[in-house]
Amino acid sequence: MELALFCTKVNILVLVLALCSPCKFIQSPMEFGSSDFLQTRNTAASLDFGRLVFNSPSAVLRPQSPKDISLLLTFLSASSFGEVTVAARGAGHSIHGQAQALDGIVIEMDSIPSDIYIHKKGDDEAGFSHADIGGGALWIELLEESLKVGLAPRSWTDYLYLSIGGTLSHGGVSGQTFKYGPQISNVLRLDVVTGKGELMTCSPTKNSELFYAVLGGLGQFGIITRARILLQDAPQKVRWVRAFYDDFDTFTRDQELLLSMPDSVDYLEGFIVPNQLSLLGTSIAFPAHLGFAPELHKVYYCIEFAVHDFQAKGTNAEQVVEKITEQMSHMPSLVYSVEVSYFDFLNRVRMEEMSLRSRGLWEVPHPWLNMFVPKSGIKDFKDLLLDSISPEEFEGPILVYPLLRDKWDANTSAVLPDEPAEQVVYIVGVLRSATPASCSARCLDDILRRNRRIAEAASAPRIGAKQYLPRHPSPLHWRDHFGLRWNRFAARKSLFDPLSLLAPGQGIFARTHASTV
Ligand code: FAD
Repeated sequence: MELALFCTKVNILVLVLALCSPCKFIQSPMEFGSSDFLQTRNTAASLDFGRLVFNSPSAVLRPQSPKDISLLLTFLSASSFGEVTVAARGAGHSIHGQAQALDGIVIEMDSIPSDIYIHKKGDDEAGFSHADIGGGALWIELLEESLKVGLAPRSWTDYLYLSIGGTLSHGGVSGQTFKYGPQISNVLRLDVVTGKGELMTCSPTKNSELFYAVLGGLGQFGIITRARILLQDAPQKVRWVRAFYDDFDTFTRDQELLLSMPDSVDYLEGFIVPNQLSLLGTSIAFPAHLGFAPELHKVYYCIEFAVHDFQAKGTNAEQVVEKITEQMSHMPSLVYSVEVSYFDFLNRVRMEEMSLRSRGLWEVPHPWLNMFVPKSGIKDFKDLLLDSISPEEFEGPILVYPLLRDKWDANTSAVLPDEPAEQVVYIVGVLRSATPASCSARCLDDILRRNRRIAEAASAPRIGAKQYLPRHPSPLHWRDHFGLRWNRFAARKSLFDPLSLLAPGQGIFARTHASTV
């Protein structure tokens, strides 16, 4: 469609919406000429954490309620604006423009008022403590509010300044996942606006197809406007431990030992230490000098685990940690522990963020790669990874930790490696920063090409990995990604977003016209 014609059509659409709803558009619809259209390139809606893709929308909607979103999607579903797409934007912490909508409409979810309702279950009451919270609210907001009554969600991400709807559209994993499953396994109910504009409440027993479609659904089926999240008692403090290894097999064996102790261990992660700098960069809560000087050109590994300390319940986390570490095979005396408040523990990446921000190292390109790797392929994957990067120059953490497949609900849209017999699956996060001072545009391209090669090689049957927060270059690659689950994913799309209006930045489906459906 010609640009001017497209702009006119969007103007009319925006004008109609502005007239018939109280929602606010950032740009005045009357100023929506082609020059203003170009100006939108500088808005947050065309930017994300990755700083790799910068797709400008035509308009940005700041809804005041789910009804505004419903109005927009109902209108677009019934109209002939055959090119317009819509992306919900949570906190914009995607890597590859997944929350962007080129020439479409971005809905900024943080504008919906986020009143948080906490229900604390009584001793004689059936059911669970839970929180009802807006889809655009951040996990940090939920933590702050729930801690006021001594509760907290069970399952987390490492970083808390992500939106509820954004992480539930993927999975939401961290060191608690081995015990409670991902965040999408800890949701009781959702309010969703489908691609057709219907406002629906869904749960495992009500509109269950929509419920499971949306969880891990990459924003393809509907926009989450509210979620009911499971809560549990929050500890006051946490004992947080790091143990170091110079052998990968011993490292993963000990991780799997801790995986088998969910009654004692409350959090389990781990990371590769490719160089001295990377170690210091992840140690803000730990002493700066651990008495551990990695030799040059040798890669080390670190297990990180934590035990909750409920002073009121008389637990002694220090003793629990002692008993656990006695069974581990880390390098002699290279085990360190600190006691921190539960809030500071969960919010630990914020400290790193502040430190990186102060050095100008946060708002830089992030060519990240995240993969789920079956246990049988983790050693090969580690070798493939270390062969493909230069450990001495690597900037950023490389997370490696195990999860249990049976904590994931196979009805959701999330994708794990295909082999169902493999209970243990590792998540590997290659969380690289590409600081412009040390990595030019060419170097960044090179990293992205290498990531692509690693992902492709690891997806082959020998390793059998799947991407988490996936990015694929073509519809064919997406089919491969979903494998046997593709037909169900596509059927859900036809049911809930038949015109493929939603989340175009994922690049899975092309927008279709009403007449072709
Ligand atoms: P956005 O980038 O705003 O959106 C992501 C996708 O979800 C888009 O397709 C968007 O259209 C869609 N979407 C957004 N809101 C909604 C909604 N309400 N309803 C439906 N669809 C919606 N992930 C983990 O699992 N574990 C981690 O520990 C972890 N740590 C991270 C740390 C950092 C510093 C960063 C940058 C990311 C991290 N992530 C982690 C990845 C993160 O979970 C995803 O990128 C997530 O999508 C970010 O949420 P967001 O609100 O920023 O989403």
